[in-house]
Amino acid sequence: MEDGTGTRAVVMGGSLAGLFAARVLADAYDEVVLVDRDELVGVEGPRRGCPQGRHINGLLARGQQAMEELYPGITEELFADGVPTGDLAGNVRWYFNGQPIKQQHAGLVCVAASRPMLEKHIRRRTAALPNVVFAERHDILGLHTTVDGRRVDGVRVHRLGEGGVEEVIRADLVVDATGRGSRVPIWLESLGYPQVREERKKIGLGYVTQHYRLREDPYHGDLSINPVASPALPRGAIFTKTDGGRVELTTYGILGDHPPTDQAGLYAWLKSLAVPDIYDAVQHAEPLDEPVAFRFPTTLRRHYEEMDRFPDGLLVTGDAVCCFNPVYAQGMTVAALGALTMRQHLHTGAAPQPGQYFRDLARDVIDPPWEMTNTVDLSFPGVEGKRTLKVRMAQAFLKRVQLAATRDGSVAAAYMRGAGLVDRPEAMMRPGFVLRVLVKSFGRAAATNGTAPKVTDRTPAPAG
Ligand SMILES: Cc1cc2nc3c(=O)[nH]c(=O)nc-3n(C[C@H](O)[C@H](O)[C@H](O)COP(=O)(O)OP(=O)(O)OC[C@H]3O[C@@H](n4cnc5c(N)ncnc54)[C@H](O)[C@@H]3O)c2cc1C
Repeated sequence: MEDGTGTRAVVMGGSLAGLFAARVLADAYDEVVLVDRDELVGVEGPRRGCPQGRHINGLLARGQQAMEELYPGITEELFADGVPTGDLAGNVRWYFNGQPIKQQHAGLVCVAASRPMLEKHIRRRTAALPNVVFAERHDILGLHTTVDGRRVDGVRVHRLGEGGVEEVIRADLVVDATGRGSRVPIWLESLGYPQVREERKKIGLGYVTQHYRLREDPYHGDLSINPVASPALPRGAIFTKTDGGRVELTTYGILGDHPPTDQAGLYAWLKSLAVPDIYDAVQHAEPLDEPVAFRFPTTLRRHYEEMDRFPDGLLVTGDAVCCFNPVYAQGMTVAALGALTMRQHLHTGAAPQPGQYFRDLARDVIDPPWEMTNTVDLSFPGVEGKRTLKVRMAQAFLKRVQLAATRDGSVAAAYMRGAGLVDRPEAMMRPGFVLRVLVKSFGRAAATNGTAPKVTDRTPAPAG
């Protein structure tokens, strides 16, 4: 605070994890300062510090719920700003192994916002909090600590632009939300703390994204067409309606098999997908921009919960803790859930204990999606990793769930609730559900080679 009284939290990084953290910190600290090297306030489009903003960032159903809990009414604000919506199980055309799963509404609200649009609304609501201040165009240089190095009590920053000087922003609590490239592990080591264990999985993922204006509607009432990559054809896509009356396409391949960025090559790639729907649709679409690529070589998890020594006054959140395979769309949801976990630790009235926070974050928020997606990633033969009996059993069951979901809407809805992180993975282990999956997946699929027929005879999804 300017007069030196009161409490202050500083959040390093003003992207989604930083904004969510600032939202909960604003309830517990007199002042919250969000530091980012980018210009943030009033920015509408993609920005330099968030290159993934040029690609689809789908918000899982649990993420929508958590966002709404943090900012009541924000979902309706997004819809009022032209963001399309629907039910993630009832209005999305999902294909697994080239087969369409049954569409059945499951109460899973889809917010089909582009990433810049989503961030704009979350930032606007965060900036409206009276005790949140944005320190934009500030490079974060390092942590400031007490002399004994046991407590972080500030952040060293450098204001960008002419005449910028290094300064320290003092803080009672510092939260690192600087994303994958976080330098906190290095800074901690230089202060004499142990190295945080990092876990990575090589997936060699390549994304290409392009926006379109459609001349003909291929959706027939659906919101999105999503053929998911499978071991038989490790290429997938999301072709979704989004804000501004546009359609956003992100297509991807793994282990070095990446979509091309030239227009003709991209169309040829789309033709190679498991279903023809997207290729057919782009024949009647006007590209609005050039295809842009993103490479994502490995997933990354930092196991802060295992550290036996960690300074007081410092927490870490979002991608700085865990970067998931983006294909499963978990990062933003985990960032929002991480903020809810942080809030539980702030409500004790005392300064948060980093060890307890990291343990809760790992157990309640990160472990379930991390295990779930590792299981799926390891079903691709080229992905390195240990295929334990547990992993192989989970993969076999998942295959059955996907097959049963092509025949039974309630299985499809339950699967989507699990994948959307609304239900814990245990929900799919309930005896009644397991039995239903086994019965419904009895026998072979009509076609599992990725050449499924186009879905033209689907029963329309019920409204509401
Ligand atoms: C290609 C791709 C696609 C994705 N798709 C999805 C998806 O579909 N669904 C989903 O939920 N998630 C998705 N994600 C993940 C999602 O984007 C992140 O989980 C989400 O943005 C939260 O990240 P974050 O805020 O922790 O970090 P980031 O978004 O990386 O933000 C870090 C911020 O810190 C700032 N910063 C970093 N270092 C400094 C410094 N030294 N000084 C000042 N500022 C600094 C940056 O400018 C930036 O604003 C995707 C990610 C990628 C890469």
